[in-house]
Amino acid sequence: MKLFIPKMYQKDIFSINYQKLKNKYKLIIFDLDNTIGSIKEDICNKETTDFLNNLTEYFIVIVASNSYKERVLNFTKNLKCDVFYLSLKPTLHVLRKIKKKYQIPYKDMVIIGDQIMTDIFVGNRKKLLTILVDPIRNIDFKITSINRYLEKIINKKNKIVKGEYYE
Ligand SMILES: [Mg+2]
Repeated sequence: MKLFIPKMYQKDIFSINYQKLKNKYKLIIFDLDNTIGSIKEDICNKETTDFLNNLTEYFIVIVASNSYKERVLNFTKNLKCDVFYLSLKPTLHVLRKIKKKYQIPYKDMVIIGDQIMTDIFVGNRKKLLTILVDPIRNIDFKITSINRYLEKIINKKNKIVKGEYYE
């Protein structure tokens, strides 16, 4: 069950203390849908674009989405970060690719996402720092609804609280 518990839970990507993460972590992987953008947005908004581009001064910043190529490349076209589409989270596919490309151990990586069943689960499998955020909007792709249902059960059982660390 530990694999489904985030190390940290925050409201959104802006509420995270990156200053603190800087001392310990080198690379941050962001989920796309409902983490850095809603599924109704075709392109990353200005505020988030500036925010993520600014983070690249301190971290290797990556967007890893399970979504398809056109969606991901179009959404991230103004971002200065590296991008992976069809990531197949929660399989280890994308984490292995990132590790191979950047030669950084998993313990120096952070993964931030809105879904326990994909983002948190895959990160915990390799002991990354896993940070759960609230979904930007309560609209999901259909395929996500089963995950949301399971998340509710997990959250209730584990009493996951916003802003707390679970390490
Ligand atoms: Mg998501």
